[in-house]
Amino acid sequence: MTSLPLVFEAPKRALPPRHLADLDPAERRAAVGELGLPGFRADQLSRHYFGRLTADVDTMSDLPAAAREAVRTLLPPLVVPVLEQSCDDGTTRKTLWKGHDGTRAESVLMGYPDRATVCVSSQAGCGMACPFCATGQGGLERNLSTAEIVEQVRMAAAAARDGALGAPTRLSNVVFMGMGEPLANYKRVVAAVRRITEPAPDGLGISARGVTVSTVGLVPAIDRLTAEGLPVTLAVSLHTPDDELRDTLVPVNNRWKVAEVLAAARRYAQATGRRVSIEYALIRDVNDHAWRADLLGSLLRQQIGAKRVHVNLIPLNPTPGSKWDASPRPVQDEFVRRVQAAGVACTVRDTRGREIAAACGQLAASQA
Ligand code: SAH
Repeated sequence: MTSLPLVFEAPKRALPPRHLADLDPAERRAAVGELGLPGFRADQLSRHYFGRLTADVDTMSDLPAAAREAVRTLLPPLVVPVLEQSCDDGTTRKTLWKGHDGTRAESVLMGYPDRATVCVSSQAGCGMACPFCATGQGGLERNLSTAEIVEQVRMAAAAARDGALGAPTRLSNVVFMGMGEPLANYKRVVAAVRRITEPAPDGLGISARGVTVSTVGLVPAIDRLTAEGLPVTLAVSLHTPDDELRDTLVPVNNRWKVAEVLAAARRYAQATGRRVSIEYALIRDVNDHAWRADLLGSLLRQQIGAKRVHVNLIPLNPTPGSKWDASPRPVQDEFVRRVQAAGVACTVRDTRGREIAAACGQLAASQA
């Protein structure tokens, strides 16, 4: 297919300087070697960064002064918070941050009674152009580096530990549902997942079961992820079960159709044993019809298997300039009932962060 522009290619903007979190353990040892330090300094540094969650070289008192100065170059400040906003009684916190080149992106930390989740960005902007999503309206600025992604998680984990959500909390979940299409920045996202899930001091030690990668449905990249053997949860932003409407709601559907996306999701579920999550933003009079709920339920049951899939309905969040809004409650309830009647699990996601434009599809990195 040639008619679709190369929306998967990020503009060639310079990625940030090398950072410890870009490197795997062997590369870290090599990097400290280049600085003239013995390999074990890399392990000390990793214990501070991934274990103590600090990038402040001055607190690394087990490093001699000269070594401290040397390792500073491996910890350039890549993600500098410029605005923090909170709502939902302080349990939702959005951070707008700036990269080394002035690039802006956002992360959202959310506390729940039983867990704490950070929603991270994988790109500055997004090239997927879904018309109901604020991020999609601005286009793609650039990919984020592995370290820029890991830094969002490290800072969120440190904030949660230090009581940002109330009582000190351990960050348990990471969802790639912020700005960007994670599978369009494949290598850096997968490297970030490894840093996030490897036990300390190699990584942050967050269980892969607590990590979710969400995609519009880039089929070859889903298959690549299947082959990685990382047991993360895959979420697919489907939004409608029919190609005709999906071609407009999720433009990449012009390249990979619903049936191909669901087949890739099935392969993922079979290979990993993990339930696939189907994201569905419910839009009034656009995709909330009873027949679509029935078609969704039967397609998922047949194509993926009722036990291997879970539908996550997202009441549409308002975005600037959009004429669409959420479905009325009775329509939403009926939609849930019909999907469940097909034997497929279906729940409605809570709409955290709406007042601070931190909810699904509202991230636009604007400085209000
Ligand atoms: N690009 C990836 C990662 C972003 S996840 C993906 O699309 O899956 C963000 C989720 O919020 C996606 O499921 C997206 O479709 C959904 N979303 C976007 N705009 C929304 C809106 N206005 N209201 C509710 N959900 C929205």
